[in-house]
Amino acid sequence: MTKFELTILGTSSALPTSQRYPTAHILNVHERFFLIDCGEGTQVQLRRFHLRFSKINQIFISHLHGDHYFGLIGLLSTFILLNRQTDLHIFSHSILPELLKPQLDYIGADLTYKIIWHPLNFKKPQLLFEDEAVEVSSFPLKHRVPCCGFLFTEKHKELNLDKEMIDFHQVPIRWLHQIKQGDDFCKEDGTVIPNKALTLPPAKRRSYAFCTDTLFEPEVAKWIHDVDLLYHEATYDNLLEKRAVETMHSTAGQAATMANLACAKKLIIGHYSARYKDLEILLNQATQIFPNTELAMEGAVFPVSTSKDN
Ligand SMILES: [Zn+2]
Repeated sequence: MTKFELTILGTSSALPTSQRYPTAHILNVHERFFLIDCGEGTQVQLRRFHLRFSKINQIFISHLHGDHYFGLIGLLSTFILLNRQTDLHIFSHSILPELLKPQLDYIGADLTYKIIWHPLNFKKPQLLFEDEAVEVSSFPLKHRVPCCGFLFTEKHKELNLDKEMIDFHQVPIRWLHQIKQGDDFCKEDGTVIPNKALTLPPAKRRSYAFCTDTLFEPEVAKWIHDVDLLYHEATYDNLLEKRAVETMHSTAGQAATMANLACAKKLIIGHYSARYKDLEILLNQATQIFPNTELAMEGAVFPVSTSKDN
């Protein structure tokens, strides 16, 4: 099956720790590599986990707290050193180009590639990107500054060929593409074999949702309903719910509740407060509500699957 997998580059919130990096994810959808948030050290992590810089053509920045984008200027500069020529699309708050402009202007003529900025809409969901394989949309989260989550969904898939029936009816190869698109097969003697006699239903579209940073907000469930893999921040354990509300973050229990509300297949929690040396407390609290939960860890790879077993 074509690849749809998530690599975690950073799991820490706010303050750095000696073990954890701030937020960054790489999502591979059919060999398209999307970078989601770009905390400090992202390029080091890309190197560490053998992910090629040149494959990244779209970057999504959820919000402008430093632990989610302070790695960006370093990465943009590295692209110059690598003599990047391909356009780079950055989806972010509309003020980000202004914030980076003095640094980019100073680099000036040396910029070897074009940056195309796309402003996010923090009021309502928005389609950000689509091609023949995937569509990416944003949806509003509730944080101290404007913040968006992102949903990555495979596009409608072709029908699968029923090989036995294709052989039985001796369908020529030149017909196979049309049949996958839903056409009937017309034999040379004029007999029509209906499409449904030759095909099997397409594989289900897979999806991944990224939700950080945010207050627990039940409304978000409707934007990500039925998602296969949900990443949701769990900055604090349940006993610190008051602190989570004050700082507009979520607890492990709230992340798990969101996975239930959204009917997600699997949950990954992350964005841990630096106070947790041991993350088991967060995992235990989440699994009590949503058993199919795992901890995000630097370098962990999670395949996006429509099955609950993954
Ligand atoms: Zn934040």
